[in-house]
Amino acid sequence: MEPILSIEGISKSYGNIKALQNVSYEVPKGAVFGLLGPNGSGKTTMLSIILDILKSDAGTFHWFGKPGSPDTRKRIGSLLETPNFYHYLSAVDNLKITSAISGRGNDQSIDDVLKIVKLYERKNSRFSTYSLGMKQRLAIGAALLGNPEVLLFDEPTNGLDPVGIAEIRELIKELAKQGKTIIMASHLLDEVEKVCTHVAIMKRGKLLAAGPVNEVLANEDIVELSAASRSELISILENFPGITSMKENGNFVQIHFPFGTAPMEAINRYCFENGIVVNQLILKKKSLETKFFELTND
Ligand code: ADP
Ligand code: MG
Repeated sequence: MEPILSIEGISKSYGNIKALQNVSYEVPKGAVFGLLGPNGSGKTTMLSIILDILKSDAGTFHWFGKPGSPDTRKRIGSLLETPNFYHYLSAVDNLKITSAISGRGNDQSIDDVLKIVKLYERKNSRFSTYSLGMKQRLAIGAALLGNPEVLLFDEPTNGLDPVGIAEIRELIKELAKQGKTIIMASHLLDEVEKVCTHVAIMKRGKLLAAGPVNEVLANEDIVELSAASRSELISILENFPGITSMKENGNFVQIHFPFGTAPMEAINRYCFENGIVVNQLILKKKSLETKFFELTND
């Protein structure tokens, strides 16, 4: 299937700071795509580039399979910085102004948007009376004007209390159910794990891994083993039960199992009974946290 967004070899420097270095990945249609990485890893820079707010130094990106155009822009809603809402105006009046300035949506769609972000009952209250979570929901509402297919959110739960965070995460999942493709930056592993279907992990401007969350962020046991004949080892291991994937890593063959399930003795016996003498057999347990720690720390 054609990806909604494909990013190819994007690089960007600010003076001698390399904010992005040759980053490539694809965002599938209908994904909730998490851009995960610590502060300073280049998330906001990438979102700004794909929104044409910043120009990259190198590389290209395509939305909906074609280069950017005004038509394309209308299909993308975004929340990069908190919009400057007027504190003394209501939610409705604030969105009317946003709609007029951006040319997205109309009065009817403002009501629809307020229902989606669960502010309809409070639509005539002044912005200044809203909780932080409500303010953020209104900001997401502004991104929803004009009913775009794709939504970009930069750290949408930053600064919120636990209730506000839960509300925003629910809202994002709800929007995904309605068929929107969502790209969101986050520095929180557990947020991406809870909300996203796909992830790209960034560290200091470099892409470390990208793909479905259940592959990239899997809890797993990794068994590394080697034998005199690697090809024979691989061919007999292919029939060993419970393996989720197998990779070659230098002199080792790596076999992956769900966390806590690698049967070391059984693997050893199985190899021997099939005529292979294993000369190394090592278990590495990876929890999500250690994996993320490895990925994002030096
Ligand atoms: P993130 O959103 O992941 O926290 P950013 O994209 O904001 O990361 O920043 C990536 C790197 O680029 C950081 O080292 C940051 O300090 C630097 N950077 C970002 N914006 C600017 C700018 N306008 N001028 C100079 N350096 C910047
Ligand atoms: Mg940022």
